[in-house]
Amino acid sequence: MSVQVVSAAAAAKVPEVELKDLSPSEAQPQLALSTAAVSAMAPAAGGGDPEAPAPAGERPPAPGPGSGPAAAALSPAAGKVPQASAMKRSDPHHQHQRHRDGGEALVSPDGTVTEAPRTVKKQIQFADQKQEFNKRPTKIGRRSLSRSISQSSTDSYSSAASYTDSSDDETSPRDKQQKNSKGSGDFCVKNIKQAEFGRREIEIAEQEMPALMALRKRAQGEKPLAGAKIVGCTHITAQTAVLMETLGALGAQCRWAACNIYSTLNEVAAALAESGFPVFAWKGESEDDFWWCIDRCVNVEGWQPNMILDDGGDLTHWIYKKYPNMFKKIKGIVEESVTGVHRLYQLSKAGKLCVPAMNVNDSVTKQKFDNLYCCRESILDGLKRTTDMMFGGKQVVVCGYGEVGKGCCAALKAMGSIVYVTEIDPICALQACMDGFRLVKLNEVIRQVDIVITCTGNKNVVTREHLDRMKNSCIVCNMGHSNTEIDVASLRTPELTWERVRSQVDHVIWPDGKRIVLLAEGRLLNLSCSTVPTFVLSITATTQALALIELYNAPEGRYKQDVYLLPKKMDEYVASLHLPTFDAHLTELTDEQAKYLGLNKNGPFKPNYYRY
Ligand code: NAD
Repeated sequence: MSVQVVSAAAAAKVPEVELKDLSPSEAQPQLALSTAAVSAMAPAAGGGDPEAPAPAGERPPAPGPGSGPAAAALSPAAGKVPQASAMKRSDPHHQHQRHRDGGEALVSPDGTVTEAPRTVKKQIQFADQKQEFNKRPTKIGRRSLSRSISQSSTDSYSSAASYTDSSDDETSPRDKQQKNSKGSGDFCVKNIKQAEFGRREIEIAEQEMPALMALRKRAQGEKPLAGAKIVGCTHITAQTAVLMETLGALGAQCRWAACNIYSTLNEVAAALAESGFPVFAWKGESEDDFWWCIDRCVNVEGWQPNMILDDGGDLTHWIYKKYPNMFKKIKGIVEESVTGVHRLYQLSKAGKLCVPAMNVNDSVTKQKFDNLYCCRESILDGLKRTTDMMFGGKQVVVCGYGEVGKGCCAALKAMGSIVYVTEIDPICALQACMDGFRLVKLNEVIRQVDIVITCTGNKNVVTREHLDRMKNSCIVCNMGHSNTEIDVASLRTPELTWERVRSQVDHVIWPDGKRIVLLAEGRLLNLSCSTVPTFVLSITATTQALALIELYNAPEGRYKQDVYLLPKKMDEYVASLHLPTFDAHLTELTDEQAKYLGLNKNGPFKPNYYRY
């Protein structure tokens, strides 16, 4: 695999962008947008005035070009630091954000984070208790869900099927003495003997994660993460394993816990433990186990983390609460989830963030892949797995023609379904028309459609009245963030009978015998009932790896104690690392063209406000 890195070329100043808040009433914490300092990873940048990434509204002095092992290993041509621009974040997305695992967060003007839109707003809370761990959690204790761990740590998250789902070994991994084949016992997984199965899962994932594999190759000589001690808390899946092994290949030492008590693939955790990674995670942890695992990652004699990779903010929170002194050595935090990112902004706003943090959730490539491409692939998967249905000729109504709706419509149209769209926004509505879909009101088609799919991020889009009018066997599901889009609560009335026909599939039966097929009780269909394509996760994992390298190698002062968005150039680099998979050939700007467009030949190619 070859990733083309071109050397610095004609300098061209990229105009600085400042977006004004669209809605003053929805004031929010200012976000720092850094586009600087990617030289450690990015293809060598051309000219332009190098600037430090700036917290919103500030213009710090320019740091020098990136240097050090990362730059040497991964940026063959001597590159200058790409241009940075400070930007106030006015993207409405930021006030109204999706949780990866369902749920959505709102930031109020005072910086409070609430989940939304729900009837009762729930403040996201941190756990600050439980330093003492139960020795033997009861079975009930193990199952009980905590209100004090983040939502993402308890929501179910589906990934590849686990070989170990049906395991009847009830012994808690905490009570087992296990060693890997090299004699190390510095891990806690369900069963180390499953390592070989896990290795195969990891090998399959590697095939769909070309960018990480390319990074491994490119960093064979220099190790941009040499000396990095990364403590991680993410879903432990085959894709995470590919990331961890890449970080290892780049020189990092890692210790890892799961960010979700259900999502760990036991055999993958075993494979990682077998190859020497201290992993503390298994499927079906109790809350006590959850914090115990995190603690085992950080509370180690002779080892102190200097980087954090978090998904949900629980790990970061734990270190803040229990080991605040550790932050003296920590160089940065990389956070993936909406929830975790908002926690970081809260800390920042309160002046309590003591290290730089990277928000990878809002990177352009990640957003695009999560919303449009992921849903285009997984809508069919989710419907197929739950209903075995045939799509050809079926009448489908998709509510909302945003990124997710566009993905769903495209997939269903390609399968021969007749697709109707509902929209409230005339621009998206017109897009639907231009794409060949009939724009309707839900009432107009509700009696005739075979499938109803909501993708609006709104509430009560499908009401009881709609549900009453649907035809027999109509399938109803949701691809939006939470279960508020379909008024499922209105179906829990005495005259209706609920029949569980499969996992995640309910028949709701009316007194006259009519039944609808409700999938995942109105929660996100794809995350509940299908898998997320590895390629989508590859984008996220590559972004995480680059963010870690960037923060770890950044010279003193480049990043302050603030939350940064990924530099656009890094986003472009993530994309470029995935291109060779498709034998895609990118056109290079000529010097003349670059000058004409006012661009640096090596990017960034778009202003920050550009919507892809
Ligand atoms: P978006 O804002 O791009 O699109 C939502 C669209 O719904 C908008 O165009 C809006 O005008 C329209 N809409 C709002 N209320 C409506 C109503 N009552 N009737 C018809 N249309 C209405 O957002 P998006 O990126 O497409 O995401 C949509 C939802 O899906 C969000 O909740 C998001 O969190 C979630 N999401 C899910 C996945 C997944 O994997 N399932 C991935 C990404 C995002």
